[in-house]
Amino acid sequence: MSQKMLQFVNTERDMPQKRLSTERKEDFLEIYGDYIDRKAKEQASRCSQCGVPFCQNHCPLENNIPDWLKLTAEGRIEEAYAASAATNNMPEICGRICPQDRLCEGSCVIEQSGHGTVTIGSIERYLSDTAWKEGWVKPIIPQKEYALSVGIIGAGPAGLAAAEELRNKGWQVTVYDRHDRAGGLLIYGIPNFKLDKKIVQRRTKRLEDSGINFVLNCDVGADITFDKLREKHQAVLIATGVYKARDLQCPGANAEGVTPALPFLINSNKRGLGDKIKSETAEGKNVVVIGGGDTAMDCVRTAVRQGAKSVTCLYRRDQTNMPGSRRETANAKEEGVDFRYLANPKAIYDSKGKVSSVLANNMRIGQKDQSGRNSVEAIKDSSFDVPADLVIKALGFNPESMKGLVDEIAVTRWGTLKVNPVTFETNLPNVFAAGDITRGASLVVWAIREGRDAAEHIHKNLKSQMINDEKIAAE
Ligand SMILES: Cc1cc2nc3c(=O)[nH]c(=O)nc-3n(C[C@H](O)[C@H](O)[C@H](O)COP(=O)(O)OP(=O)(O)OC[C@H]3O[C@@H](n4cnc5c(N)ncnc54)[C@H](O)[C@@H]3O)c2cc1C
Ligand code: SF4
Repeated sequence: MSQKMLQFVNTERDMPQKRLSTERKEDFLEIYGDYIDRKAKEQASRCSQCGVPFCQNHCPLENNIPDWLKLTAEGRIEEAYAASAATNNMPEICGRICPQDRLCEGSCVIEQSGHGTVTIGSIERYLSDTAWKEGWVKPIIPQKEYALSVGIIGAGPAGLAAAEELRNKGWQVTVYDRHDRAGGLLIYGIPNFKLDKKIVQRRTKRLEDSGINFVLNCDVGADITFDKLREKHQAVLIATGVYKARDLQCPGANAEGVTPALPFLINSNKRGLGDKIKSETAEGKNVVVIGGGDTAMDCVRTAVRQGAKSVTCLYRRDQTNMPGSRRETANAKEEGVDFRYLANPKAIYDSKGKVSSVLANNMRIGQKDQSGRNSVEAIKDSSFDVPADLVIKALGFNPESMKGLVDEIAVTRWGTLKVNPVTFETNLPNVFAAGDITRGASLVVWAIREGRDAAEHIHKNLKSQMINDEKIAAE
């Protein structure tokens, strides 16, 4: 074993510097700084090089983490980057926004011995950011070119990962998206302070430079039919994500000033990208965000940065049951967000047609329900009032109906697309699906994984189509 490793006993865990909350509240810039070279090497050397690497097992991409940590500690940064990029199409993006505490870092063995986990995500980010800086990330030049093509609906992480893998193998790829920019939720959902949009755009630019064709502002089902797409391409991948916002069920839920989360976040991201957006912001307002997931955390922190007078988050369960990333919740608290746990909206009041307050019930945790999750029940006569000029609903997302896009496709009882779990093929021949539209609302790293896996099977499918075509031509 290299002397450079197992330094966790002598070297403390050290994350890249985080900007002070008073400073970062004033802008939309990322809040974590970069590792300097020496720090990255030092932190990588803390890895204990486990024989059975639990970090790798708990990374959805099964990234070869111990190997690239060792290469980093030895100063072999280009090789470390190559090892990390071999299994991940966007390592610098995952390094920034994966909930590492629930994935790779959450299973780091040295954490169990009280030494603090290896900072895997930050090192992954450092490796790729360095690769971009040094010019090691180049457009793809496929070794062979095939004439057959794949149409991908959705330019989110699932669609983009699949596009890259398929182009790498030499297929012609066209990605269709209804938005004016590629990236899916990476560009229009997740705010800039978590993921700088330049990081996303340099990835999509590389794919364009690699010969992938992007057709933007194209709503498949409305601007072009699904059947037309199947005529044009020998395989189609549906990677359309999930966008039907769950609604609030209480009196006043549709009052003026009550808005769903995604349009609020999209408008904020568009403003950051330089677009002229007329819609209202949170500036000067008392903002109440309802929900406890990543979307809710992004809304409260966006409202803070837009200059809200106050920001309150109402969540009906307790902090332990919150689905949002622990790290992002802690960041929101530092930035001044008031969290009211075990609080559920009972009614939204308005004054002259505009929202004025939220009446909430105090809740308590009840028995486990059929799903194994604790139920919540309202505590009688325990309501309280929160003043509000803007209420943001961040209660999660379900899949949109497939009617209008493709009627005959099989869906699950949750409305997600039914696929063969190994091949990602739907009930329609040569039509595949990946990402949130098959898993339900999930994580970027899972979308990448599914995009890669689907691409592998699309590749096999196209190869056999080619062999069959050649056989027919020879007969
Ligand atoms: C606010 C928010 C914050 C999040 N934060 C995190 C985080 O910090 N970390 C993390 O890991 N995950 C996070 N997630 C989850 C993550 O963003 C998703 O799991 C991931 O983006 C799913 O990828 P996807 O490619 O399946 O779909 P998406 O990223 O949703 O992309 C789907 C694309 O398909 C396009 N599309 C849909 N229908 C059509 C159509 N008919 N025609 C053409 N185009 C169409 C859409 O415009 C979109 O661009 C967050 C989600 C949200 C909403
Ligand atoms: S992709 Fe995510 S889970 Fe996997 S090593 Fe990177 S940060 Fe950890």
